Formats: sequence, structure tokens, C-alpha cells
Amino acid sequence: MRLSQGQLNLLERCPRQFQHTYLDGIISPTSLEQQERLSSGSRFHLLMQQRELGLPIDAIVKENEQLQGWMNGFAIAATEILTPADGEFRESEHCRTLQVEEYLLTVIYDLFIARDDTCQILDWKTYPKPQDRRKLAQNWQTLLYQYVLAETSEYLPEQISMTYWFVQSDDKPQSLTFNYSNTLHQQIEKKLKQLLLQLTNWLKSYEIGEQFPQVVEGSKTCNYCQFISKCDRNFEADLSAQEYSTNKLPLLANIQEVVIQ
Ligand code: SF4
Repeated sequence: MRLSQGQLNLLERCPRQFQHTYLDGIISPTSLEQQERLSSGSRFHLLMQQRELGLPIDAIVKENEQLQGWMNGFAIAATEILTPADGEFRESEHCRTLQVEEYLLTVIYDLFIARDDTCQILDWKTYPKPQDRRKLAQNWQTLLYQYVLAETSEYLPEQISMTYWFVQSDDKPQSLTFNYSNTLHQQIEKKLKQLLLQLTNWLKSYEIGEQFPQVVEGSKTCNYCQFISKCDRNFEADLSAQEYSTNKLPLLANIQEVVIQ
């Protein structure tokens, strides 16, 4: 079974939601707003990939004011990223797979830069920089991306880092960097193996007709879930508008990576 960071996030957030999405194959409609955000994100990723491959991007950028703004802002804020250094290996949409027990953990780095003594994973986000970096530090994208690199390369954990670039931040693109370490590597390995063991047990139960566990009754997780009616859960009406909009962004961050051909 292939697993991505998005699937691990979902599994950790609510196993039943994982079941409905990936095992029962229940497809939920995306809103127009979500579709627009996703296609803007895909366009930016495609553009960055074309740029990295040395293909012309001017014609595409000229036709889209939003893309133009993001590209111009990024070129000013992250000149060093866009300028290859001598002797480094760079690849956009760099894919790695690691087998852990019966699972294939798959990661796709928007840009991977490897030098003699360090290597960097870069990820583009087309939403504003989140206020709370702890949430992103604990997100499976940050954890799994660095873990898989440490496991599939000769680099020491201390030589690995991951940087998110948020191109839609208020005045100019902003970044958040997470440095990896051997201590973190051990912690993630433990957490990952526990989660995979739970998944194996839930899958066995599912095969004999049992459902994956739900989050506890009254959990706010249900407020952001499309299966709220199916699970017969109630919407927590006291959730403030600010809390709602703050919580919507991490969900977008968990949407499955799109492989650009
Ligand atoms: S409604 Fe709640 S319990 Fe049901 S799948 Fe969604 S998050 Fe899980």
C-alpha cells in the first residue's frame, strides 16, 4: 500500500475519515473556492518546474496577473534559491520511495537541492504563512519528507533541512525552515511505526467488516469533515469564524501531492 504525507495526516486526524476516503472511495465534491485555490497552486508548481527545467515561462506569466505577482515576489525574496550554485544537484518534483514493512512511503519534493555537505527540501505553498509554526513542524509533510531523505541518502540528519515558501503572504513571500536532527529522526521513526502498526490492525479488522475508529464525540475535527452527516455528528456552532478560517488552511496543506507530468 502506497502512503503519502497527506494520507498519514488524515489517518492521524481521524481513522474513519481515512477509511471513507481511501478504502470506501467516497469522493466529496470540492467547492469552487477550493477548486480555484488548487488550480492556482498547480499552476504555480508547474511554472516553477518549467523554470527549473530551463523552459520559457514568460508567455504563461504574462497572461496571469496573480502568477506574475507571485513569481516576481519570489524572484526578489529568494534569489539564492533560483540561482544554481556550482556543483550542486537540483531537481524539481524529485520523488523518493521508502518501504517500511508492507507500506511504500512516497514523497515528492517541489525542489531538491543537494550539495556536498547539506541538502535542502523546498516546498511551495500558495497560501499565507501560518501563524503557528508548531502545527507545520508536526505535520506529516515536514516529518515524512525529512525522514525519507535521511533513510534513502548518505546525508546525516543534521545535514538535512526543509523550507516552505509561502508566496501569498501579505507583503512579500515568506519562508519557514525546519532543521532535521538525529533525535528527531528517532522520534519520527517511533511515531511512524506506531501509526503503521495501528493501520495494519485497522485494515485487518476492516477486512472482516469492522469500521476504522472515529474521533471522540464533540471533537472539532468533525466540523471540518465532509462525513459529518454520515457519522451522525453535530456541527459545533460555537466555533468562531476566525477559528474556522484558521483551521481551513492546514486541511488544504494536507491535500494529496499532484504529480506534474
Ligand atoms: S465526521 Fe468526525 S468521526 Fe466522522 S469521519 Fe469525519 S472527523 Fe471522523
